[in-house]
Amino acid sequence: MDLTFDDAEQAFRAEARRWLEANVPGPLPSGDTAEGFAAHLEWERRLFADRWAVVSWPEEYGGRGASLWEWLVFEEEYWRAGAPSRVNQNGIFLLAPTLFEFGTDEQKARFLPRIAAAVDLFCQGWSEPNAGSDLAGIQSRAVRDDAGGGWRLRGQKTWTTRGAFCNWLFGLFRSDPEAERHRGLTYFLVPLDADGVTVRPVGRLDGDDGFAEVFFEDVLVPDDLVLGEVHQGWRVAMATTSSERGLSLRSPGRFMATATRLVDLYRTRGADADPGLREAVVRAWMDADAYRLHTFGVVTRMLAGESLGAESSFMKLFWSELDVATHEAALGLLGREGELDAGGWMKGYQFSLAGPIYAGTNEIQRNVVAERVLGLPRG
Ligand SMILES: Cc1cc2nc3c(=O)[nH]c(=O)nc-3n(C[C@H](O)[C@H](O)[C@H](O)COP(=O)(O)OP(=O)(O)OC[C@H]3O[C@@H](n4cnc5c(N)ncnc54)[C@H](O)[C@@H]3O)c2cc1C
Repeated sequence: MDLTFDDAEQAFRAEARRWLEANVPGPLPSGDTAEGFAAHLEWERRLFADRWAVVSWPEEYGGRGASLWEWLVFEEEYWRAGAPSRVNQNGIFLLAPTLFEFGTDEQKARFLPRIAAAVDLFCQGWSEPNAGSDLAGIQSRAVRDDAGGGWRLRGQKTWTTRGAFCNWLFGLFRSDPEAERHRGLTYFLVPLDADGVTVRPVGRLDGDDGFAEVFFEDVLVPDDLVLGEVHQGWRVAMATTSSERGLSLRSPGRFMATATRLVDLYRTRGADADPGLREAVVRAWMDADAYRLHTFGVVTRMLAGESLGAESSFMKLFWSELDVATHEAALGLLGREGELDAGGWMKGYQFSLAGPIYAGTNEIQRNVVAERVLGLPRG
């Protein structure tokens, strides 16, 4: 494994850094509010206009054809520059890799440029009131409608992040109720302005409308909005899930930038910190660096043709626990001032607490690691 970047990658880093330093806006309102979402979209469209929105995608879809290494470099620079989190992340980092793998040529040509340009904004329709961890237990139905040339969707999704602000949803629906649970599911792309869709925002404790419930009453979805094979949605969804837990949703640049901010905070606030807190700061920085180096290993293996598979669960466990520990150390340094959200650490801490829940809870990831990575017997 080569831990150095070559001249071309260094030049790419310098170009990205120059652009980001000249263009990154000041702090934006939370992207989980209507006002903040609009402000983030404006930023994401500026990224797209200068071809920084999806650097690793082919040029025909709005990217730069950058390598995975260059993408990692871009992410490091993005977070280092303090750029806003991406409200379009579900489309770019979760759905798009799945479209590249399973989409028809027509679907790729239709959706990828519009996702890159932040025009088609996707939310994720997995969870239902009675199916979270047990995703294969979903009850929302897709019923064949031959006369309509497609499928009728019925049921309810919940915990749909930014569902109130998005215009599309990708989701799993049960298309064959007679089949074994994992076999009778189909993956659909659903326009949220279709007849029969109701989106109801769900307020969060922090005051943001970050979630929505989405109801489907006989929503007609044409055949060309099925992603992958009919009844094979589980396989397609697992590809999305691997992106969500593994490489693409949470790149190491994000955690390195937070850990660096923590070290800076320690330099200004840590003189009287107790040794336990000092150790927590050092540990957070070392773990962020370890995650970065581990990711280099993962990328090396992916470029050699290996797929990430169940190892993405191991990565998800690591980054979500790292994020909580980093924010806890910062709040320890800030003491009572942390309550005032100094430096945004409190808001960041609250969000970090969701990390062990979203993208599949950490208990479930531990089960996956035990059974599929370590080969232990099923519990
Ligand atoms: C910030 C955030 C954003 C989210 N965004 C989305 C989104 O955009 N789209 C979407 O579809 N969903 C979203 N979710 C929902 C998320 O996917 C679910 O919350 C998660 O899968 C857990 O499901 P649940 O809440 O129904 O809990 P449950 O599945 O009911 O689990 C409750 C508890 O039991 C534990 N548990 C359950 N089964 C087992 C088992 N077999 N072994 C050990 N422990 C077990 C769990 O780990 C958990 O601690 C989001 C959640 C959060 C917090």
